[in-house]
Amino acid sequence: MKKHNFSAGPCILPQEVMKKASEAVLDFNGLGLSLIEISHRSKDFVAVMDKARSLSLELLDLQDKGYQALFLQGGASMEFLMVAYNLLEKKAGYLNTGTWADKAIKEARIFGEVVEVGSSKDKNYNYIPKGYSVPTDLDYLHLTSNNTIFGTQIKDFPKTTTPLVCDMSSDIFSRQLDFSQFDLIYAGAQKNMGPAGTTLVVIKEDILGKVSRTIPSMLNYKVHIEKESMFNTPAVFPVYVSMLTLEWLKNLGGIAAIEEVNEKKARLLYSEIDLNPLFRGYAQKEDRSIMNATFTLTEEKLKGVFDEMCKEAGINGIHGHRSIGGYRASMYNALSLDSVGTLVDVMSELERKG
Ligand SMILES: *Cc1c(COP(=O)(O)O)cnc(C)c1O
Repeated sequence: MKKHNFSAGPCILPQEVMKKASEAVLDFNGLGLSLIEISHRSKDFVAVMDKARSLSLELLDLQDKGYQALFLQGGASMEFLMVAYNLLEKKAGYLNTGTWADKAIKEARIFGEVVEVGSSKDKNYNYIPKGYSVPTDLDYLHLTSNNTIFGTQIKDFPKTTTPLVCDMSSDIFSRQLDFSQFDLIYAGAQKNMGPAGTTLVVIKEDILGKVSRTIPSMLNYKVHIEKESMFNTPAVFPVYVSMLTLEWLKNLGGIAAIEEVNEKKARLLYSEIDLNPLFRGYAQKEDRSIMNATFTLTEEKLKGVFDEMCKEAGINGIHGHRSIGGYRASMYNALSLDSVGTLVDVMSELERKG
């Protein structure tokens, strides 16, 4: 039986994408060859890369606005350093909203001065700092739109003339935003797009070329743009699967359509968390993520029973991250409302029994 997969990442992908991907591994485009045994310079694969890049911009409504989309390797973690390598001349601002932002800050400090414009560390990152001011002399301001581990999400982005860089690894393509407010967006594929192994980077070209250091080719956004994301062998399979997911999303009606489903899923789960006395939410209400819901049991002794009931219902991957414990239900684009309904049923069943 197919499980209800609430894993935080790598995570659930649409079934029809899985099916097409597995077919392409055996025989791609009827070539009598596998997708993963042909040249990345072949016209069949070049078409895949072009499609993945153009669909990314189309879904984000960034076509013909001076942006380029790249599929790079090294994960979102590589972008922590590439962003600073390419953009940090003197001073950058970072909003510290948790583990991932903290890691990004650590890398950026290798390249220049970093100011934390705000931090929610005082409450173990259960909220999004607000009302912070952005210094006017920053090369860029770095934000993490969705904090995968703590279950918080930025709802209002700062209005500033400072270039905005955003790590959207765990909520890219999940909700409508004016994406043109950002100058650089990056997202590891394995949370809402494809298998681990590739990272989408969307860059407004005119922010590049402003730092004085020499940048190694592989870490240089300009080189990757010039080579149309084929400077070296790209991660062919992850790029292909990402392309299929983007096609799936476009056919559904794009981000507007999936956002509606995502909001329904989140409302359903959070209302159970709030109404059921056996559960308590972790993140502050106004900052709750629609992708990753974090919660704990109010009576620790029920853990064994609850875990067993989840297992029996085919619920997978809801254990919280080791840094906060409790539970985390990740509700990425491909997770159905029905799966969330199953989890909510188990939670209310626990209350009836308890
Ligand atoms: C998972 C995650 C990362 C790290 O991604 P890798 O691809 O493993 O390097 C970075 N930022 C956020 C917000 C994440 O959720």
